Amino acid sequence: MKSTVPTRTVLEGGGFPVRRPIPMSALTSPFLLLDEMGPVEWPANGAIGAPNHPHRGFETVTYLLQGRMNHADSAGNSGELNPGDVQWMTAGRGVIHSELPHPDFKREGGVMHGFQIWVNLPAADKMMPPRYQDVPAEEIPIVTSEDGLVKVRVIAGQSLGQSAIIDTVIPITYLHMTLKPGGKITQSIKKGLNGMIYCFSGRLNIEDRTLNDGQLGLLSDGEVVCLSVSESAEEDVNLLVLAGPQINEPIARYGPFVMNTEQEIMQAVNDYNSGKLA
Ligand code: MN
Repeated sequence: MKSTVPTRTVLEGGGFPVRRPIPMSALTSPFLLLDEMGPVEWPANGAIGAPNHPHRGFETVTYLLQGRMNHADSAGNSGELNPGDVQWMTAGRGVIHSELPHPDFKREGGVMHGFQIWVNLPAADKMMPPRYQDVPAEEIPIVTSEDGLVKVRVIAGQSLGQSAIIDTVIPITYLHMTLKPGGKITQSIKKGLNGMIYCFSGRLNIEDRTLNDGQLGLLSDGEVVCLSVSESAEEDVNLLVLAGPQINEPIARYGPFVMNTEQEIMQAVNDYNSGKLA
Protein backbone atom coordinates (compact mmCIF):
# COMPACT_ATOMS: atom_id res chain seq x y z
CA MET A 1 0.00 0.00 0.00
CA LYS A 2 1.53 3.32 -1.02
CA SER A 3 -0.94 5.83 0.45
CA THR A 4 -4.38 6.26 1.98
CA VAL A 5 -7.30 8.52 1.11
CA PRO A 6 -9.59 9.72 3.93
CA THR A 7 -13.38 9.72 3.69
CA ARG A 8 -15.90 12.50 4.15
CA THR A 9 -19.62 12.21 4.72
CA VAL A 10 -21.64 14.21 2.19
CA LEU A 11 -25.28 14.33 1.07
CA GLU A 12 -26.11 12.88 -2.36
CA GLY A 13 -29.19 12.52 -4.60
CA GLY A 14 -32.30 13.74 -2.79
CA GLY A 15 -30.21 14.18 0.40
CA PHE A 16 -29.06 10.77 1.61
CA PRO A 17 -25.75 10.50 3.48
CA VAL A 18 -22.78 8.81 1.81
CA ARG A 19 -19.20 8.20 2.94
CA ARG A 20 -16.93 9.19 0.08
CA PRO A 21 -13.13 8.97 -0.22
CA ILE A 22 -11.92 12.36 -1.46
CA PRO A 23 -10.08 13.07 -3.64
CA MET A 24 -10.59 10.42 -6.28
CA SER A 25 -7.91 11.29 -8.83
CA ALA A 26 -5.71 9.95 -11.62
CA LEU A 27 -4.35 7.60 -8.93
CA THR A 28 -7.78 5.97 -8.60
CA SER A 29 -8.44 5.65 -12.37
CA PRO A 30 -10.72 4.28 -13.74
CA PHE A 31 -12.84 4.81 -10.59
CA LEU A 32 -14.37 8.28 -10.54
CA LEU A 33 -16.45 7.87 -7.42
CA LEU A 34 -16.79 5.45 -4.52
CA ASP A 35 -19.83 6.14 -2.38
CA GLU A 36 -20.78 4.09 0.65
CA MET A 37 -24.50 4.80 0.99
CA GLY A 38 -25.27 4.84 4.68
CA PRO A 39 -25.67 2.74 6.67
CA VAL A 40 -28.60 4.98 7.51
CA GLU A 41 -31.74 4.07 9.41
CA TRP A 42 -34.75 5.65 7.74
CA PRO A 43 -37.98 6.22 9.67
CA ALA A 44 -41.27 5.10 8.11
CA ASN A 45 -41.94 7.23 4.99
CA GLY A 46 -38.56 8.93 5.40
CA ALA A 47 -36.29 7.14 2.89
CA ILE A 48 -35.11 9.12 -0.10
CA GLY A 49 -33.17 8.26 -3.23
CA ALA A 50 -32.25 9.82 -6.55
CA PRO A 51 -35.22 10.57 -8.85
CA ASN A 52 -34.82 10.77 -12.66
CA HIS A 53 -31.39 12.02 -13.76
CA PRO A 54 -29.15 11.39 -16.79
CA HIS A 55 -25.69 9.83 -17.20
CA ARG A 56 -23.31 9.65 -20.16
CA GLY A 57 -19.77 8.42 -20.70
CA PHE A 58 -19.23 5.95 -17.83
CA GLU A 59 -20.78 3.16 -15.73
CA THR A 60 -22.62 3.25 -12.41
CA VAL A 61 -22.41 0.10 -10.29
CA THR A 62 -24.74 -0.35 -7.33
CA TYR A 63 -24.19 -3.09 -4.73
CA LEU A 64 -26.72 -3.24 -1.95
CA LEU A 65 -25.96 -4.71 1.49
CA GLN A 66 -29.12 -3.79 3.39
CA GLY A 67 -32.45 -2.26 2.40
CA ARG A 68 -34.39 -2.42 -0.84
CA MET A 69 -34.29 -0.22 -3.94
CA ASN A 70 -36.05 0.16 -7.27
CA HIS A 71 -34.37 1.07 -10.55
CA ALA A 72 -35.85 2.17 -13.84
CA ASP A 73 -34.26 3.74 -16.91
CA SER A 74 -35.12 5.30 -20.25
CA ALA A 75 -33.77 2.26 -22.13
CA GLY A 76 -36.72 0.31 -20.73
CA ASN A 77 -34.81 -1.57 -18.03
CA SER A 78 -36.14 -1.81 -14.52
CA GLY A 79 -35.45 -3.92 -11.49
CA GLU A 80 -35.28 -4.29 -7.78
CA LEU A 81 -32.18 -4.34 -5.64
CA ASN A 82 -32.23 -6.46 -2.51
CA PRO A 83 -29.33 -7.22 -0.14
CA GLY A 84 -26.41 -8.75 -2.07
CA ASP A 85 -27.75 -7.77 -5.51
CA VAL A 86 -25.64 -5.88 -8.02
CA GLN A 87 -26.74 -3.59 -10.81
CA TRP A 88 -23.99 -2.82 -13.35
CA MET A 89 -25.31 -0.03 -15.53
CA THR A 90 -23.25 1.09 -18.51
CA ALA A 91 -24.60 4.52 -19.42
CA GLY A 92 -22.52 4.73 -22.61
CA ARG A 93 -24.09 7.34 -24.91
CA GLY A 94 -26.75 8.02 -22.31
CA VAL A 95 -29.70 7.00 -20.16
CA ILE A 96 -32.03 8.72 -17.75
CA HIS A 97 -32.68 6.65 -14.67
CA SER A 98 -34.12 6.74 -11.17
CA GLU A 99 -32.71 5.04 -8.08
CA LEU A 100 -35.33 5.05 -5.35
CA PRO A 101 -36.23 3.17 -2.18
CA HIS A 102 -38.67 0.33 -2.86
CA PRO A 103 -42.21 1.51 -1.95
CA ASP A 104 -42.54 -1.16 0.78
CA PHE A 105 -39.18 -0.15 2.27
CA LYS A 106 -40.15 3.50 2.10
CA ARG A 107 -43.43 2.83 3.89
CA GLU A 108 -41.91 0.68 6.65
CA GLY A 109 -38.50 2.34 7.01
CA GLY A 110 -35.31 0.45 7.93
CA VAL A 111 -31.58 0.37 7.34
CA MET A 112 -30.18 1.18 3.89
CA HIS A 113 -26.55 0.34 3.24
CA GLY A 114 -24.67 -0.22 0.02
CA PHE A 115 -22.20 1.10 -2.50
CA GLN A 116 -22.27 3.00 -5.72
CA ILE A 117 -19.10 3.29 -7.74
CA TRP A 118 -18.58 5.15 -11.01
CA VAL A 119 -16.30 3.46 -13.53
CA ASN A 120 -14.93 5.65 -16.29
CA LEU A 121 -14.96 4.45 -19.89
CA PRO A 122 -12.19 5.06 -22.44
CA ALA A 123 -13.04 7.54 -25.24
CA ALA A 124 -13.61 4.66 -27.66
CA ASP A 125 -16.44 3.28 -25.45
CA LYS A 126 -18.04 6.45 -24.08
CA MET A 127 -20.77 6.48 -26.73
CA MET A 128 -21.46 2.72 -26.73
CA PRO A 129 -25.10 1.65 -26.50
CA PRO A 130 -26.32 1.57 -22.89
CA ARG A 131 -26.09 -1.81 -21.19
CA TYR A 132 -27.73 -3.14 -18.05
CA GLN A 133 -26.67 -6.12 -15.95
CA ASP A 134 -29.01 -6.80 -13.07
CA VAL A 135 -27.55 -9.65 -11.03
CA PRO A 136 -29.31 -11.14 -7.99
CA ALA A 137 -27.25 -12.06 -4.92
CA GLU A 138 -27.61 -15.81 -5.53
CA GLU A 139 -25.82 -15.50 -8.88
CA ILE A 140 -22.83 -13.60 -7.47
CA PRO A 141 -20.10 -16.22 -6.88
CA ILE A 142 -19.01 -16.58 -3.25
CA VAL A 143 -15.79 -18.34 -2.34
CA THR A 144 -14.61 -19.21 1.16
CA SER A 145 -11.04 -19.87 2.34
CA GLU A 146 -10.16 -23.40 3.51
CA ASP A 147 -10.18 -22.36 7.16
CA GLY A 148 -13.55 -20.64 6.73
CA LEU A 149 -12.27 -17.32 8.05
CA VAL A 150 -12.43 -15.41 4.75
CA LYS A 151 -15.43 -15.03 2.49
CA VAL A 152 -15.19 -13.30 -0.89
CA ARG A 153 -18.08 -12.17 -3.05
CA VAL A 154 -16.66 -11.99 -6.57
CA ILE A 155 -18.57 -9.17 -8.28
CA ALA A 156 -15.96 -8.63 -11.01
CA GLY A 157 -12.56 -10.16 -11.71
CA GLN A 158 -11.35 -13.14 -9.69
CA SER A 159 -10.29 -14.23 -6.25
CA LEU A 160 -9.24 -17.61 -4.73
CA GLY A 161 -9.55 -19.13 -8.22
CA GLN A 162 -13.18 -18.06 -8.65
CA SER A 163 -14.21 -15.82 -11.57
CA ALA A 164 -17.09 -13.36 -11.66
CA ILE A 165 -20.06 -13.68 -14.00
CA ILE A 166 -20.50 -9.96 -14.65
CA ASP A 167 -19.02 -8.79 -17.94
CA THR A 168 -17.08 -5.52 -17.82
CA VAL A 169 -16.14 -3.22 -20.71
CA ILE A 170 -12.59 -2.77 -19.41
CA PRO A 171 -10.87 -5.23 -17.02
CA ILE A 172 -12.27 -4.52 -13.56
CA THR A 173 -11.81 -6.28 -10.24
CA TYR A 174 -14.57 -5.71 -7.68
CA LEU A 175 -14.52 -7.97 -4.61
CA HIS A 176 -16.30 -7.81 -1.26
CA MET A 177 -14.25 -9.63 1.37
CA THR A 178 -15.29 -10.45 4.91
CA LEU A 179 -12.44 -11.51 7.21
CA LYS A 180 -13.12 -12.95 10.65
CA PRO A 181 -10.55 -12.39 13.41
CA GLY A 182 -7.44 -14.43 12.48
CA GLY A 183 -8.45 -14.47 8.78
CA LYS A 184 -5.82 -14.03 6.11
CA ILE A 185 -5.89 -13.88 2.31
CA THR A 186 -3.40 -13.16 -0.45
CA GLN A 187 -4.84 -11.26 -3.38
CA SER A 188 -2.91 -10.39 -6.51
CA ILE A 189 -3.64 -7.31 -8.56
CA LYS A 190 -2.78 -7.71 -12.23
CA LYS A 191 0.20 -5.70 -13.38
CA GLY A 192 -0.87 -2.49 -15.11
CA LEU A 193 -4.08 -2.15 -13.07
CA ASN A 194 -4.58 0.43 -10.34
CA GLY A 195 -5.57 -1.46 -7.22
CA MET A 196 -7.22 -0.09 -4.09
CA ILE A 197 -8.90 -1.33 -0.93
CA TYR A 198 -11.76 0.35 0.91
CA CYS A 199 -12.28 -0.81 4.50
CA PHE A 200 -15.81 -0.35 5.83
CA SER A 201 -15.75 -2.18 9.13
CA GLY A 202 -13.03 -3.15 11.56
CA ARG A 203 -9.30 -2.74 11.23
CA LEU A 204 -7.45 -4.40 8.35
CA ASN A 205 -3.75 -5.26 8.17
CA ILE A 206 -2.21 -4.82 4.72
CA GLU A 207 1.27 -6.32 5.01
CA ASP A 208 2.77 -4.28 7.86
CA ARG A 209 0.37 -1.32 7.61
CA THR A 210 -3.20 -0.89 8.81
CA LEU A 211 -6.31 0.43 7.13
CA ASN A 212 -9.15 1.66 9.33
CA ASP A 213 -12.89 1.76 8.82
CA GLY A 214 -13.62 4.43 6.20
CA GLN A 215 -10.15 4.59 4.63
CA LEU A 216 -9.24 3.90 1.01
CA GLY A 217 -5.76 2.41 0.58
CA LEU A 218 -4.02 2.74 -2.78
CA LEU A 219 -1.87 -0.23 -3.79
CA SER A 220 1.35 -0.29 -5.78
CA ASP A 221 1.27 -1.55 -9.37
CA GLY A 222 1.28 -5.29 -9.80
CA GLU A 223 1.12 -5.86 -6.06
CA VAL A 224 0.38 -9.16 -4.36
CA VAL A 225 -1.13 -8.09 -1.07
CA CYS A 226 -1.51 -10.08 2.09
CA LEU A 227 -4.64 -8.96 3.92
CA SER A 228 -5.19 -10.10 7.48
CA VAL A 229 -7.09 -9.42 10.66
CA SER A 230 -5.60 -9.78 14.11
CA GLU A 231 -6.71 -12.86 16.06
CA SER A 232 -7.61 -10.60 18.98
CA ALA A 233 -9.85 -8.34 16.85
CA GLU A 234 -13.35 -7.95 18.26
CA GLU A 235 -15.15 -7.54 14.97
CA ASP A 236 -15.06 -8.84 11.41
CA VAL A 237 -13.43 -6.72 8.74
CA ASN A 238 -15.38 -5.88 5.62
CA LEU A 239 -13.62 -4.43 2.62
CA LEU A 240 -13.86 -3.87 -1.10
CA VAL A 241 -10.99 -4.62 -3.44
CA LEU A 242 -11.17 -2.53 -6.62
CA ALA A 243 -8.79 -2.59 -9.57
CA GLY A 244 -8.87 -1.32 -13.12
CA PRO A 245 -6.67 0.17 -15.84
CA GLN A 246 -5.29 3.68 -15.85
CA ILE A 247 -7.19 5.60 -18.54
CA ASN A 248 -4.68 8.14 -19.77
CA GLU A 249 -7.16 10.55 -21.33
CA PRO A 250 -8.37 14.00 -20.34
CA ILE A 251 -11.49 14.07 -18.15
CA ALA A 252 -14.22 16.69 -18.61
CA ARG A 253 -16.82 16.25 -15.89
CA TYR A 254 -20.06 18.05 -15.28
CA GLY A 255 -22.51 16.53 -12.79
CA PRO A 256 -23.73 13.24 -14.23
CA PHE A 257 -21.69 13.48 -17.46
CA VAL A 258 -18.05 12.37 -17.75
CA MET A 259 -16.48 12.96 -21.16
CA ASN A 260 -13.06 13.93 -22.55
CA THR A 261 -13.65 17.54 -23.69
CA GLU A 262 -15.77 20.55 -22.72
CA GLN A 263 -17.37 20.40 -26.16
CA GLU A 264 -18.53 16.82 -25.52
CA ILE A 265 -19.99 17.96 -22.18
CA MET A 266 -21.93 20.75 -23.91
CA GLN A 267 -23.14 18.20 -26.46
CA ALA A 268 -24.31 15.93 -23.61
CA VAL A 269 -26.19 18.79 -21.92
CA ASN A 270 -27.78 19.77 -25.27
CA ASP A 271 -28.73 16.18 -26.04
CA TYR A 272 -30.29 15.84 -22.57
CA ASN A 273 -32.18 19.13 -22.86
CA SER A 274 -33.49 18.22 -26.31
CA GLY A 275 -34.73 14.84 -25.12
CA LYS A 276 -32.16 12.73 -26.96
CA LEU A 277 -31.23 10.72 -23.85
CA ALA A 278 -34.82 9.69 -23.17
MN1 MN B 1 -27.52 7.57 -11.25
